[in-house]
Amino acid sequence: MQEIIHTNVCIVGAGPAGSTTSIMLGKLRIKHLIVDAADFPRDKICGDGLDLKVVRVLNNIDPSIIKNEFIKDEFTHSMGMCFILPKGKHIDLMCKNENDDALLNQPIFYTSRRTSFDTFLFNKIDKNFADVRTNCSVQKISKTGEEWTLEATYQSKKIIIKTPMLVGADGDHSVVLKHVGDRNVNRNHYAAALRQYWQNVDGIDDNKLIEIYFPKKYPFAYFWIFPLDNNEANIGFGMASYHVAKKNINTRKALQDIIANDVHIRHRFKNAVALEQPKGWGIPMSTLNRKAHGDGWLLMGDAASMVCPNSGEGIGPAMLSGYIAAHYIKRAVDENCFIEKMFSNYNKEIHKPLLDEERIYRFANAMPASIFIKGVDAVLSSNFFKKWYTEKEMKRWLVTAYTKPIKITY
Ligand SMILES: Cc1cc2nc3c(=O)[nH]c(=O)nc-3n(C[C@H](O)[C@H](O)[C@H](O)COP(=O)(O)OP(=O)(O)OC[C@H]3O[C@@H](n4cnc5c(N)ncnc54)[C@H](O)[C@@H]3O)c2cc1C
Repeated sequence: MQEIIHTNVCIVGAGPAGSTTSIMLGKLRIKHLIVDAADFPRDKICGDGLDLKVVRVLNNIDPSIIKNEFIKDEFTHSMGMCFILPKGKHIDLMCKNENDDALLNQPIFYTSRRTSFDTFLFNKIDKNFADVRTNCSVQKISKTGEEWTLEATYQSKKIIIKTPMLVGADGDHSVVLKHVGDRNVNRNHYAAALRQYWQNVDGIDDNKLIEIYFPKKYPFAYFWIFPLDNNEANIGFGMASYHVAKKNINTRKALQDIIANDVHIRHRFKNAVALEQPKGWGIPMSTLNRKAHGDGWLLMGDAASMVCPNSGEGIGPAMLSGYIAAHYIKRAVDENCFIEKMFSNYNKEIHKPLLDEERIYRFANAMPASIFIKGVDAVLSSNFFKKWYTEKEMKRWLVTAYTKPIKITY
């Protein structure tokens, strides 16, 4: 007999977006189903950098998570960042903390292999409220009246899920998006990126600064070195797809070229060992402003194209959108009303934290390549930038992450 599950809410995908939604729905005491095609732990191609948006969401869910788990060495602590400019100059940026304020002593970033971080989040789902099905891949979705029907394979058996509320947290290749919106890749709002784990990369700072290099040879791209534990590092290369296509760049070759030949980078890899072949995945950026809500459905995270366009950080925005979505879903369940009008402010709410980044991205990408390179050099090496970043911006991130509640307007 084929299993048929009836549920008020079905979340497809249990990455950062889906798990956060589920954890928050548990806190709000809303029963739901969450399914994922994979079994946890599972890998996800990523830079493995966790920014303070992640900390903010977790602090809003339960401050003891950061205090008792993150800060007590669960993940690698990074006290700031280092920009490596096209001419090779290093700009180290750490939060200035003249008065030894405990809040400002916190790491600015954490790094964690996604295998660990995503499992950590997934394990926080409250099974009193969530029916959790892994190894459950959704293949077909249809709608009759106000009810969605999902056809899925769960542990090799076909199952049917029926729900009035469909939540797409299934990443960049979202099957939910295919049914509710437009999955065509728009190169102006998409990036190609690669990750490769290495061991024994030289010159990693004791403060585990995450490093971002802007190679002169590849404008509108960046190369990163994100330190992990065990003397390992996440190395990667990302470039806006519009420029990849325009300049016919082979991103895999570009990554290898920088590691082997770039005068500012190659010496770091003299004693290093690659732990895997480079692995690629797409980055759907928030500047696309994808419609993420409708009658009985919401999208979040990569499925909603929510990656911060300048930094490539998508975990924080995915979790923020999941946190916000949970509140909208609770309201819809409480009122037993899932019509589009219930979610009409959702898009605005999930983009609110990214609006400044989106403006900067549009401005920088409209420049010719040579001006872009000169601009990066001039801006990032200026004293004004360093002062602003270390005395204002990093402080603002920390204060927001630890003290500012996430307010939701419906
Ligand atoms: C190379 C690279 C580097 C990056 N570096 C960073 C970084 O350093 N920091 C950062 O913040 N962001 C980074 N990002 C972006 C980040 O990885 C994503 O934005 C983030 O993973 C989005 O989370 P999500 O939950 O929306 O989707 P995902 O993490 O992709 O999770 C989606 C889940 O849905 C499941 N799923 C998919 N299809 C189905 C289906 N049909 N049925 C059931 N389940 C399904 C998958 O198994 C998966 O578990 C990077 C991305 C790339 C490609």
